[in-house]
Amino acid sequence: MFSQRLDRVRTLMAEQQVDVLLLSVGADLPYFCGYEAMPLERLTMLVVPRDGEARLIVPRLEAPRVVERPDVFEIEAWDETDDPIDLAHSLIGPVSVAAIGDHTWAGFLVDLMKVLPSVEFRRASEITSPIRQVKDSAEVESLRAAAAAADRVATALRSGEIQLAGRTEAQVQAELGRRLLAEGHQRVNFAIVASGENAASPHHEAGDRVIRPGEVVLCDFGGTMADADGVGYCSDITRCVHLGEPPADLVDAYDVLFEAQAAQVAAAVVGQPCQEVDRVGRTMIAEAGFGDNFIHRTGHGIGTEAHEDPYIVEGNLLELRAGHAFSIEPGIYLPGRWGLRLEDIVVAAADGPDNLTSTDHRLAVIDA
Ligand code: ZN
Ligand code: ZN
Ligand code: ZN
Repeated sequence: MFSQRLDRVRTLMAEQQVDVLLLSVGADLPYFCGYEAMPLERLTMLVVPRDGEARLIVPRLEAPRVVERPDVFEIEAWDETDDPIDLAHSLIGPVSVAAIGDHTWAGFLVDLMKVLPSVEFRRASEITSPIRQVKDSAEVESLRAAAAAADRVATALRSGEIQLAGRTEAQVQAELGRRLLAEGHQRVNFAIVASGENAASPHHEAGDRVIRPGEVVLCDFGGTMADADGVGYCSDITRCVHLGEPPADLVDAYDVLFEAQAAQVAAAVVGQPCQEVDRVGRTMIAEAGFGDNFIHRTGHGIGTEAHEDPYIVEGNLLELRAGHAFSIEPGIYLPGRWGLRLEDIVVAAADGPDNLTSTDHRLAVIDA
């Protein structure tokens, strides 16, 4: 599988005249070789020449973590007193164009530019994203498993099994994280718990605010779950709970959001430009009078990264292909009062949108 992925990226390297691909910290490295670099000061770098063998530069003390795949790459371990930039320089050889992983530490790029002054550096995503954003069937199943695990947590949240009233947002955040791990995730990526007026801030940081009866609680959470090869795929879900009977204006706004989100999921068909999926819901929300209250794009791609291509946003003319996986998460935010968001993970498939998220989409109303 990794060899095939490297073959595909080499084809794009040839098409775009890239001589060498350099992958370090970030999601490209595990996708193409099965190894995830520790995000530390010591250099880890996969050097992939357009022709010739890939080599993984790794600190000697981290070499035992590497699952050897001799058919994919050779390991080049460096000792504490070696200069890894020298090693990279020698492995890169004489090249004109290098594509370097977007999340590589800037410090390493600066050092490489010093020893390779005539090399043109490009973002690796120009050649890795077109491959990564189209998921194969095994990847879709990995995303489905992660989504199902997040669904179980969201269902517990909606049912009232997770205590909200009287607890702080941070306490609920911690419980959502524990449950994501208990349901099979290796890592919690985020858990937004935003109550009352805090829900009007889409990326609110959970804090000491105590959740009270009569409030809406917006929970947006996800993590990473490893597949059989140890490569992690992400989950991401948002559901809203109201403690006690919700006010009529909130119910009306939620109905608008519910209809808009369902229409956007239905519009996520192969061949549809990403911006059209955004427009379908945005138009409905605007016609209901909330045009200024939907303050972010509709969604983001998801895979080994929680946010990746394709982005479901105005201006993205990319047409959906079978295997594109992304969130559909419109929101309505009233500053000082409340906020609502509804998020699913959807895969564009040949026979129509494949919604990986199955948790009930209605506003959950819990006695408080
Ligand atoms: Zn977000
Ligand atoms: Zn989310
Ligand atoms: Zn999301």
